[in-house]
Amino acid sequence: MSVAAAAPRLAGKVAVVTGGARGIGLGCARSLCKEGAKVVLADVDLAVAQRSAGELAAAGHAAAAVKCDVRIKADCEAAVKAAVTQWGKLDIMVANAGIVKAAPFLDMSEQDFDDVVAVNLKGVFLTCQAAARQMVAQKAADPAWGGGAIVTMSSVNAVMAIPSIAGYNASKGGVNGLMRCMSLALAPHGIRVNGVGPGSIATDVLASVATDEAARNRILSRTPLGRIGEPDEIGEVVAFLASDSSSYMTGQVLYVDGGRLALN
Ligand code: NDP
Repeated sequence: MSVAAAAPRLAGKVAVVTGGARGIGLGCARSLCKEGAKVVLADVDLAVAQRSAGELAAAGHAAAAVKCDVRIKADCEAAVKAAVTQWGKLDIMVANAGIVKAAPFLDMSEQDFDDVVAVNLKGVFLTCQAAARQMVAQKAADPAWGGGAIVTMSSVNAVMAIPSIAGYNASKGGVNGLMRCMSLALAPHGIRVNGVGPGSIATDVLASVATDEAARNRILSRTPLGRIGEPDEIGEVVAFLASDSSSYMTGQVLYVDGGRLALN
């Protein structure tokens, strides 16, 4: 008996992924592309974003790159415009860009705290507002448009405190609050908003906080699945939240953490 291959869940959809040049953002872009979406990689480092988009294109996907610093409103609007100019619309925004700065709480500088909140929290506000305005306009122009999906990148640290990353913890808690607020504001417009909260994933962010073998072993000992996750394992969940497979979900965070939060 032959089994028909499932149709790609995001065929015809257009997505923007902030911080999409590498790490988890690139993992998200790969998963969205695999499901048939056309993807704009919006990143502060245009050269790396262009290289990553080129690799996706070489694998047969539709991918483009745009320079976007999520702290800057005009850049966020330009990222949305890049998708609309290239492919006529925007269906999916993945607000992924984020940074971490670590220091003991008593030593953390005001500047470091501000920097982290500016990218991780205000950046999510600016990108999601730009995306939502475009989506609301699309719905008004074409009531048959299938609706939008926004996915915000949270973290287990939204709910699990680490004293050396106070700004990061605060920003990710804020992202969850913002996500829930947007889910209420945008539901009447046919836009769903959900979050993904990764545990420890193999990227440069993790390398910057787990700098030695002992730190990595500490992470592993607190991860029931016994390994660090891969960016594509976050991408797969983002693709689910971006697709109609999650059509009755909004205002939720899915933690993808190898069981880390179950320990708490
Ligand atoms: P990476 O540093 O690997 O990738 C982040 C990407 O975002 C980089 O390309 C970076 O560019 C870009 N970026 C940084 N600042 C900005 C900005 N202002 N505007 C646009 N792009 C920017 O990080 P991860 O992939 O690990 O992290 C992605 C998200 O996942 C973040 O929100 C992070 O908090 C979250 N997360 C990660 C976890 C992990 O274990 N890795 C765990 C939980 C959450 P450049 O390098 O040039 O600065």
